[in-house]
Amino acid sequence: MKTAIISGITGQDGSLLAAFLVAKEYKVIGLVSPGRDSNLFRLKYLGISDKIDLRSVDLLNPKEVNALLTDNHVEEFYNLAAISSVGLSFSQPSQTFEFNTQSVMNILEALRKFSPKTRFYQASSSEMFGNVGHAQLPIRESFLFHPASPYGISKASAHWLTINYREAYKLETCCGILFNHESALRPVNFVVKKIVHTALRIKNGTADSLQLGNISIVRDWGYAPLYVEAMWLMMQQEKMDDCLICSGIPISLETFVSKVFNSLDMDVKKYLKIDSGLLRSLDLEIIYGDNSKAKKTLGWEYSMTPDDLIGQLIQDEQAFIKWKEDVKTP
Ligand code: NAP
Repeated sequence: MKTAIISGITGQDGSLLAAFLVAKEYKVIGLVSPGRDSNLFRLKYLGISDKIDLRSVDLLNPKEVNALLTDNHVEEFYNLAAISSVGLSFSQPSQTFEFNTQSVMNILEALRKFSPKTRFYQASSSEMFGNVGHAQLPIRESFLFHPASPYGISKASAHWLTINYREAYKLETCCGILFNHESALRPVNFVVKKIVHTALRIKNGTADSLQLGNISIVRDWGYAPLYVEAMWLMMQQEKMDDCLICSGIPISLETFVSKVFNSLDMDVKKYLKIDSGLLRSLDLEIIYGDNSKAKKTLGWEYSMTPDDLIGQLIQDEQAFIKWKEDVKTP
């Protein structure tokens, strides 16, 4: 039985990855942060809360990270903990930069000193690329970074730290450069979750409008439960390497919202309100990637179209809303 550590286990990807690894019969150690009121509802929803060995570890404290890696024999460490909201990173730039980089440095140092055989996965992000000229798209692994937010900058630093420890100390590290991926387990401040959730509430009469900021942005959205499989595949590579994980299909937010409302037989024009207060100081206009390396080298299979994704997210959200009502979770 392999042992894996997942930091950020209470988040969308952490909980989905934990469910994936539990199904593969891993022993999963999940990290929560002392002093944070971490919500375990995602692990409960996935039916795995009693299968995870939860540990309270402050990733900003090197002593605690060192102790974690000296006391446990671990094959795989998935580092998913991060202040993950681009929008929030503009209002909390220092916290975002500090946590998203220093935690990675502490883990890499602990691995170097105490557990050099443990494989390490870093959750890198498409936000590291920033605004890429239309003519150059789709983004590939070889593109230079020019991040356009404190979040993107923090992720770029953590990305290069991870590569540096692979090259300088021969640690088994890799970075998954993931584009936006969604599920019912996304926090509701993320736009796709907000759209699907609010559209269903409008449909059942408990909301009357959907407020969005810039709907002209174009993104590459995918389905999170299939993206966590790619994380695992990356950790099984013979030679550790970095890889883009994306759907490869661009779609504007405006089209995405219309498709969600159409799927629910509602006219988006009646309910969508543009709120200029939701605009960011700097937004990526258009970003989408090329997933051919992931498909070729990892054998990752992904074929969902935006329509497939929307249908799946609506179905998942309905199931999640029902579960929340049944267990009376806020
Ligand atoms: P998420 O749902 O926001 O989860 C983030 C996790 O990090 C949660 O477990 C959260 O714990 C923890 N965390 C946040 N701030 C923390 C802090 N100050 N101290 C300790 N723990 C903290 O994010 P996600 O969507 O699962 O994403 C997982 C990782 O992939 C993140 O690193 C994210 O940046 C990256 N990523 C995500 C996407 C995407 O589309 N989802 C795309 C590219 C990269 P609490 O429960 O205590 O808040």
